[in-house]
Amino acid sequence: MRFSRGRKFPAAPEALLYTVAVTSCLFCRIIAGSIPSTAVFQDDKCYAIADLRPQAPVHVLVMPRAHIVSLAECEASHSDLLGHLLWTAAEIARTKNLARGYRIVINTGEDGGQTVDHLHIHLIGGRAMTWPPG
Ligand code: ZN
Repeated sequence: MRFSRGRKFPAAPEALLYTVAVTSCLFCRIIAGSIPSTAVFQDDKCYAIADLRPQAPVHVLVMPRAHIVSLAECEASHSDLLGHLLWTAAEIARTKNLARGYRIVINTGEDGGQTVDHLHIHLIGGRAMTWPPG
C-alpha cells in the first residue's frame, strides 16, 4: 500500500482501459489523471481523494478504479473488491487518527443521495456524528 501526503501519482495503466467508454465520468477522469487530483491512497484496485466539499474535518472518498455505477449495480463477482474498499477506508481512518470513531457512507441511487454515478465510499470523521442521518 502507498500512502501519500500531497504527492501526485500517475494513473495506473489499467485505469486507461476505462477511459474510452466512460470519459464523461468525473471519477474515471480523476483516476485516469485527466483531471488533476492528489491521492490520499491508491493501489491497483482503488483510488482515494479528499472530498472537495468536506462535511467533517476528515472526508475522504474511496473509489474502485473500475467503473461501477453504484452499489446497486454490484454482482457477486464484486464482493472481494467491495471488501477491499472497506478495508482501505479503515486503513485510511487509522492514518487520519480517527480512533474515536468515524462514519462510512455509501450513497446509492437518487434517493440515496448519490451525486456521481461511480461507486464510492465516504469516510467521514473528526467530529461527533448525529443519528438519524439526513
Ligand atoms: Zn467512472
